[in-house]
Amino acid sequence: MTVQATDKFATKAIHAGEHTDAHGSVIEPISLSTTFKQSAPAQPIGTYEYSRSQNPNRENLENAIASLENGKYGLAFSSGSATTAIILQSLPQGSHAVSIGDVYGGTHRYFTKVANAHGVDTTFTNNLLEDLPTLVKENTKLVWIESPTNPTLKVTDIRAVSDKIKSLNKDIILVVDNTFLSPYLSNPLNFGADIVVHSATKYINGHSDVVLGVLATNDKAIYERLQFLQNAVGAIPSPFDAWLTHRGLKTLHLRVRQAALNATKIAEFLASNENVIAVNYPGLATHPNHDVVKKQHRDALGGGMISFRIKGGAEAAAKFSSSTRLFTLAESLGGIESLLEVPAVMTHGGIPKEAREATGVFDDLIRLSVGIEDADDLLDDVKQALAAAQ
Ligand SMILES: *Cc1c(COP(=O)(O)O)cnc(C)c1O
Repeated sequence: MTVQATDKFATKAIHAGEHTDAHGSVIEPISLSTTFKQSAPAQPIGTYEYSRSQNPNRENLENAIASLENGKYGLAFSSGSATTAIILQSLPQGSHAVSIGDVYGGTHRYFTKVANAHGVDTTFTNNLLEDLPTLVKENTKLVWIESPTNPTLKVTDIRAVSDKIKSLNKDIILVVDNTFLSPYLSNPLNFGADIVVHSATKYINGHSDVVLGVLATNDKAIYERLQFLQNAVGAIPSPFDAWLTHRGLKTLHLRVRQAALNATKIAEFLASNENVIAVNYPGLATHPNHDVVKKQHRDALGGGMISFRIKGGAEAAAKFSSSTRLFTLAESLGGIESLLEVPAVMTHGGIPKEAREATGVFDDLIRLSVGIEDADDLLDDVKQALAAAQ
């Protein structure tokens, strides 16, 4: 059975990347062998030779990712960060990149502390769409978007950026980090992105038990270059991690939809609470980019991530964070369980206060990764923690 182009998301999630084996196993076995038999020199029996180059579990996962992102090709790596590193390593020496300002901390670190050592220079902007024509130089090769951003959840119009790049008539690839939405809520390749990347550690695996990265593209030349680097660098996931991620992916549509519905309920409550200064949630009609959300997200859903400013400063944020029963205080996101964190002292603690506050990351900002527990129980937990914090 192979999925058809007309199959809907849920069907693809369950069946894309399906394997066949001699036993007719319904669920794919984990293939741990590092090497594969050959019948004559340089004549492998099947399609595999050595597990760094390709492995059945990784290949099935890569095919599933490609299918869910409406791409022709998928690739998996040992982490989201390794995926980013491989894409940036694919640029010629002396290239220039333009990135949105508040990208994931590790992406910012790679751009500024690693890629520059390999001769790739990056300009950051908080106003990508307007600034792009003036920021693009002779050697600009790549534009990097993350949408929604972390942790203030600003949404970028991918189609508008893609059109602007095309109007410049230059050889620039557009990369979108789609980690916060997952392929269920948005498919950036549909809006003109050349590569979509994910930290599958988050929603795609979804159970907070695997670190892994993936990308998808429709461009054969880009795919072949990145696949070459995947093998040359060797930053590949283990067969077991690929298998677990593929298993997690099969329920992506159920998990992400429920997380988004739960988050909507909580965001609406926070927006009307007197102890909350401001709420960032793309699903609210009051979100500054909600018109883009309507075009770019499935059913205009806002995803599972919320951030909000609590009255009472850093002290109230700390009190809230240690008063929840169901939300666990921890970094990361996108799992079945609800998490919360205080970005100013946790994920974004390394950014100087002034730069941090310029993007909206104040000391009183709390980030929620809303899980798939019962919505009313989660809401009650937020209510009692808000009360405890005052
Ligand atoms: C976590 C994350 C990454 C990095 O992924 P790892 O799997 O932790 O290496 C990149 N981008 C975003 C948006 C993330 O949340």
